[in-house]
Amino acid sequence: MPSPNALDFFDVRSLLSDDERLVQDSVARFVDDKVLPIIGQAFEDGRFPKELVPGIAELGLFGSSIQGYDCAGLNGVAYGLICQELERGDSGIRSFVSVQSSLVMYPIHAYGSEAQKQRWLPAMAKGEAIGCFGLTEPHGGSDPSNMKTHARKKGGDWVLNGAKMWITNGTIADLAVVWAATDDGIQGFLVEKGTKGFDAPEVHHKMSLRASVTSALYFNDCTIPDASRLPGVKGLKGPLSCLTQARYGITWGAIGAAQACLSEVLAYTKERVLFGRPLDANQAAQLRMAEMSRKITLAQLLSLQLGRMKDAGTMHPAQVSLAKWNNVRMALDIARDARDLLGGAGITLEHCPIRHALNLESVITYEGTETVHQLVIGKELTGVSAF
Ligand SMILES: Cc1cc2nc3c(=O)[nH]c(=O)nc-3n(C[C@H](O)[C@H](O)[C@H](O)COP(=O)(O)OP(=O)(O)OC[C@H]3O[C@@H](n4cnc5c(N)ncnc54)[C@H](O)[C@@H]3O)c2cc1C
Repeated sequence: MPSPNALDFFDVRSLLSDDERLVQDSVARFVDDKVLPIIGQAFEDGRFPKELVPGIAELGLFGSSIQGYDCAGLNGVAYGLICQELERGDSGIRSFVSVQSSLVMYPIHAYGSEAQKQRWLPAMAKGEAIGCFGLTEPHGGSDPSNMKTHARKKGGDWVLNGAKMWITNGTIADLAVVWAATDDGIQGFLVEKGTKGFDAPEVHHKMSLRASVTSALYFNDCTIPDASRLPGVKGLKGPLSCLTQARYGITWGAIGAAQACLSEVLAYTKERVLFGRPLDANQAAQLRMAEMSRKITLAQLLSLQLGRMKDAGTMHPAQVSLAKWNNVRMALDIARDARDLLGGAGITLEHCPIRHALNLESVITYEGTETVHQLVIGKELTGVSAF
């Protein structure tokens, strides 16, 4: 009887199809060869490693779930595995791919005109165009229905005014999907970089997701044609449906971050000799690592079942909320505990847990905070909205 794999204790990989395993292996190789050697320095420098974009595109990771338009047309489980492996590298790299795929390419594909799809999807799949998603506003991201950014119709054009905050990729994006209030409800607009009245300055001094670009978006009488409006959706369900896609990917990504931390702790405690024996021979250390393994295993099974439901068309947003809450909390707890098990060495970027822990402080906040997801589940259970 072979011993269980330390990072996949219940052999969840055996539940994957050959194609899904192939996707996982090719992304894992990319992360080992291209991401891990540079990511600590990029994090320290506060730099998004843009040089990774062509390699990510070559693997078909942008818009991987979309059929046609030069996209890979993979299933939801494969998209999850992509997120898991990328976030084993860094949450910032996974965030970059999540935003491009789930928050920009998804709404263009689901709600865009054929001309919008032809113009943007192939270019985005090739990594030649980068996108961002502007929903959150400075006065409160948890309550997007209180949207102040608005678009007014003026002849055949729309005039946008307002501000968005904490927008991943904003400064480097060629295209922003912007959600704005109109006389006819919330609508999505495609705003191109360089449009007069549109500015996207970077947010500096972050202690989290330092290898990812985060920006503000400002619209000051920014005028765009009606052809740049997403014609296929009105109301908050537009942006919320995008968030469901991205949150689904996050549930898998968090597993990768946690696996990276457990892997580092297993290696470190084997070599670290204290009180005359390796640290990993102590009961207290083993209890903590066993706890990590238990939490990772539960999260893996949760995400795989969620993915199977997604591919069967039965996944409910409240189920995504439960998995996002559980898996990101799991990863953050593991990263913090792994940091502690490494002692003083754990505070340096020589080891990954502090970087993952700091990154996960963003991941637990964005795409709905832990509290917001708990309230979504509470509403589903009781039928009463407590927001
Ligand atoms: C690095 C980073 C990248 C991001 N990228 C993007 C992006 O690409 N696009 C985008 O649109 N947004 C993005 N966001 C924004 C993110 O989604 C918001 O930060 C998040 O939704 C929370 O909004 P907020 O920061 O305004 O906090 P607030 O909404 O002000 O929340 C503050 C606190 O109040 C709690 N709270 C909220 N409502 C309730 C309630 N009813 N009862 C009790 N407590 C409550 C929250 O849980 C939180 O703890 C990003 C954020 C970060 C940090």
